[in-house]
Amino acid sequence: MNKYDTQTLQEYDRRYVWHPFTQMKEWEEDEPIVIERGEGSFLIDTDGTRYLDGVAAIWTNVHGHCKKEINEAIKAQVDRLEHSTLLGLAGEQPALLAKRLVDIAPPGLCKVFYSDNGSTAVEIAVKMAFQYQQHKGHTGKTKFISFTNAYHGDTVGAMSVGGIDIYHDVYSPLLFPTIKAPAPYCYRCPMETSDSSSCGKVCLKELERLMADHAHELAALVIEPRVQGAGGMITQPEGFVRTVRELCNKYDVLMIADEVAVGFGRTGAMFACEKEGVTPDLMALSKGITAGYLPLAATLTTQQVYNAFLGEYRELKTFFHGHTFTGNPIACAAALASLDLIEKEQLLANLQPKIEYLKDRLNSLKSLVHVGDVRQEGLIGGIELVRNRATKESYHWEERIGVLVCRAARKHGIFLRPLGNIIVVFPPLSISLAELKQLMDGIEASIREVTE
Ligand SMILES: *Cc1c(COP(=O)(O)O)cnc(C)c1O
Repeated sequence: MNKYDTQTLQEYDRRYVWHPFTQMKEWEEDEPIVIERGEGSFLIDTDGTRYLDGVAAIWTNVHGHCKKEINEAIKAQVDRLEHSTLLGLAGEQPALLAKRLVDIAPPGLCKVFYSDNGSTAVEIAVKMAFQYQQHKGHTGKTKFISFTNAYHGDTVGAMSVGGIDIYHDVYSPLLFPTIKAPAPYCYRCPMETSDSSSCGKVCLKELERLMADHAHELAALVIEPRVQGAGGMITQPEGFVRTVRELCNKYDVLMIADEVAVGFGRTGAMFACEKEGVTPDLMALSKGITAGYLPLAATLTTQQVYNAFLGEYRELKTFFHGHTFTGNPIACAAALASLDLIEKEQLLANLQPKIEYLKDRLNSLKSLVHVGDVRQEGLIGGIELVRNRATKESYHWEERIGVLVCRAARKHGIFLRPLGNIIVVFPPLSISLAELKQLMDGIEASIREVTE
């Protein structure tokens, strides 16, 4: 093995690597942790320091790091085939995985289009929805409705349906225009209702008004079901997704569910839509699909959408889209091994006590003077820090209170990444109760140290 010392690796990183979502001027002045190994819920750096992985390798990890069964499935696949193509050929692993995905997906989703990251999974859904309406002769239905504060990825189409101003504003001349509906955020309702319990209702009312006005020009609606992830782990009131589905039916608008962050057990159900008995017309999957091992994504859709693309070649109804590494067999093998483990280890059933424990711990954090709101969906937690709890006055974003808390957490052996003033709890789903306790103890201590 290599064995470059930590300083050399830090030096190479500083000199040659441009990090995502990172002010590199600041990064260059810092000494980054260099991760070398993973073990279950832990990441281990080049000096041997262990960090509990509180963000599950950026919301992807399901069974822990270096899980034996997945490692073996990948090794076995590498010795059979590393890659071919789905352009003109079928493949063993992508065929097997497509069947498995359809078996577990909300009923009615029966076709799988592969790509390799969450942004492309959403782009594909957007393009499919657009072209579907064209093929159906609804030539005026060319627009999309999406939500304020939404995040669907960083490519141009995915940004267009996104709604996080600090990420997207600079690119606005590049984006296609969309109709923005207010997303419920009970703690700070965008409709400025003072009664947090009615936030969902007023948002839905406004959504219906927008959909009624624009139905003739709407191809599809895009939603992160149950929880807006990058927007701050903002949970939706019970029944919200179901009502969105009903409105899509009523106004003949396709529903695109972006389950990139919430799919594969994260919410306590296999898919978030399941919790509301909803089948979207298109569903985007990525992050957890390979349990955090390899880049892979899938856009699932219905027979109805698929059928609209069938015709003679000269009719040009083909879906003209495809990525080079579409359906990569190694990634598919990892995904199949993960699905086997989810079943064999009864992942969903075993999540319940952890979800309950997280609930208790989040609730008790409400007593801290600078915790304004706590939110939970399955094994996702969001802790919103505020300067003043009575007035809900935020910390100014330039204070970067979230960053400071996550910095402090490192001394407790925990790696976290915040979203603005929101501390995110997003551990591997395989985390043990003892490790979850360690994580929440460390988060609580870090919040106290920085804010009190
Ligand atoms: C992460 C994420 C994406 C983008 O996925 P990438 O693989 O980073 O392109 C899209 N939608 C949601 C909800 C996400 O959390």
